[in-house]
This record gives sequence, C-alpha cells and structure tokens, in this order.
Amino acid sequence: MSGNFLALAQPGVQQLSPYVPGKPVDELARELDIDPARIIKLASNENPLGASPKALAAIHHALADLTRYPDGNGFELKQRLSELCRVQANQVTLGNGSNDILELVARAYLAPGLNAVFSEHAFAIYPIVTQAVNADARVAPAKDWGHDLTAMLAAIDENTRVVFIANPNNPTGTWFGPRALEAFLAAVPRDVLVVLDEAYIEYAEGVDLPDGLDYLASYPNLLVSRTFSKAYGLAALRVGYALSSPAVADILNRVRQPFNVNSLALVAARAALDDVEYVAHSRRLNEAGMQQLEEGFRQLGLSWIPSKANFIAVDVAREAGPVYQGLLREGVIVRPVAGYGLPRHLRVSIGLASENSRLLEALAKVLARG
Ligand SMILES: *Cc1c(COP(=O)(O)O)cnc(C)c1O
Repeated sequence: MSGNFLALAQPGVQQLSPYVPGKPVDELARELDIDPARIIKLASNENPLGASPKALAAIHHALADLTRYPDGNGFELKQRLSELCRVQANQVTLGNGSNDILELVARAYLAPGLNAVFSEHAFAIYPIVTQAVNADARVAPAKDWGHDLTAMLAAIDENTRVVFIANPNNPTGTWFGPRALEAFLAAVPRDVLVVLDEAYIEYAEGVDLPDGLDYLASYPNLLVSRTFSKAYGLAALRVGYALSSPAVADILNRVRQPFNVNSLALVAARAALDDVEYVAHSRRLNEAGMQQLEEGFRQLGLSWIPSKANFIAVDVAREAGPVYQGLLREGVIVRPVAGYGLPRHLRVSIGLASENSRLLEALAKVLARG
C-alpha cells in the first residue's frame, strides 16, 4: 500500500492553483516548429532593453568565484540600498526575487486561523503564498479595476496579520496617489503588516505615485518590496528586496534561506543600481511604448485600463482566450488574464517600438478574423 500523497498534502497546498507564467519563447518555437528569432514575447513585463552593460560586466568579473558560496548577508548590495533608500542596512531584506519576500512574509506572519487582505484582480502571488501556509484570504472588491483602499480597510478583521497592496498593481496597471496611501496607513491597525509591493515604482515614481519609503519612519508596520526584475532588467537572476522596520527585517532574515540570493545576482544588482542612465532609458522607452500601444488600440477601437507600469491591459471586446491563441500563431506572446477575473483583457508588456508594432499588426489581423 502506498500513501495518497495528493491527499496527504496540507489542505491549502492541495487546493493551490500553480502560478501560470508567460509562455517562454523557446516553448512556442517548439510548438510552432519555427525559429525563436521570429517570436516576440510581451508577456512577463520584462525589460526589452537587455541587461545593463554595467551589470553584465560585474557578472563577468564574479564568474571567477563561482566555487564560493555567495555573501549570505549581501553586505555590499544592502549597503548601497540603504544609502539610496535612506534607511539603515538592518532594515533591508534581500530576496530571491521579490516573490521570495512575499513568501517570507507569509511564512513569518500567517498561519491557519489568521488571514491576509488583498484586492480583487491583485497580483497572483498574494493568494498563493497565503494559501500555501493554510491562512485565509480576504479579498476586497476592486473599484474601476484598481485597489479600493477603503474596501480593503473594511476587510481587515481581528485575525488579519498582513495586507498585500501593489502600487501600481499587476495585471491591471492601476495605481493610487499619496493621499490615499496616507489615509490608509493612518487607519490600519498597528499590528497589521502592510506590504506595499512597488515592483514597478521606477517607471512612475514622482509622477503620481507615492514613494513608500517616505512612510517607513512613521509606520513600523510598513514593508516596501521592490525588485530588480523590471526596470533594472535582471529578471533571470532573481533578486528583489524589502525595506521595513528593523524588527520585521530581523524576522524575515530568520526564515530566509541563508544563501537565497546568488553571487551573480548580488553583484549585478549592485551595479544596476548605479546605472542611472539605463533606468532613465528604460523609463523613456516605456513612456513612448505606452503611447504607441494606446494609439494603436484606439485605432483598433479597443479600450484599455490606464496603466503606470510597463504593461497595459487591453479590452479585446470579446472572450480573450481565442485572441491570445491567434496571437501565438502569429508568433506574438502576450498574457491572458482570465485567471485574474479579467476574461476580456489581455496584458501586453511594453516592448521595443518594433515589437509594439508587430503586436498591433498581429492583433489587427487576429481581430479581423472575428
Ligand atoms: C513582477 C512582480 C513582482 C516581482 O517579481 P520578482 O520575483 O521580483 O521577479 C512582484 N510584484 C508584482 C506586482 C510584480 O508584478
């Protein structure tokens, strides 16, 4: 007799739907039996510029030391982050991507009988990390596709330990301004950890978006998470970070794996932070690409959810699944978001101008087929 290892898993884990990533280029190339060079991927909010040359040089240099374990404390990277983020080094937690940070939070602060609050249409990792530790999810209804902070506040109860908020949110690109954040932070009970996920902040900081770092000193229950996967162009390396009170950082550092960020990621992230020109270029490219896509969608008679991130959710005015499939056959990978409660939308990451054009042409072709 062998055990039923599906039924033996923790209840929350048994019921988990795995995260569905954007389709890799090579996978589609195999399926269509075509040259990967003919495929464009606008499905995972990656930086279309390629990594910063400074990051690449740092990696090259670090290759000589691959037999050594990385610096488990990430001293150099934390030092630089603490300077740039105006905090002490003991307020920084490094993660294997910022997803790692979200998981550390869930492991450290959630448990059966406790709950996390997040919004409808919010980033898929919030329900996954919550469910994986058998905690409850309290999902607040969205307003105009975005986070309704008032509804989120109302969803907090005595068993709430964590609130996950993305600003801007993925996959909607929606955002809220400083006033809304200030009112929210002032009203949240002080024993609830507010995780403010700023994965896309570099694209819009200072425009309309609050900088979560401005509130760290006043709110010891605030954690700001950020990533090197988007504007810093290092998604493959898996590195992100959290800024929080020293107490929360202390706890997260107890549960993380001792070498959760590898040595190439550490040096690349450190170098990328100082490549101000690369980030500025990424931002300009993103703004131009956003305009290009909006104009293209307008010409196709489509509407979209206004976005401050490096992607845009377009309403294809019909069930989006077949449109997604049609685009794949044109060699264009975007992201279906029905799993986020958006069955008529497709999420398109902003690419190079040539990639955006190809997406628009392919979309016109697929929609014309009806
Ligand atoms: C992409 C993204 C992340 C970051 O993922 P990494 O693990 O750092 O690659 C975090 N939050 C949101 C909302 C995202 O879209």
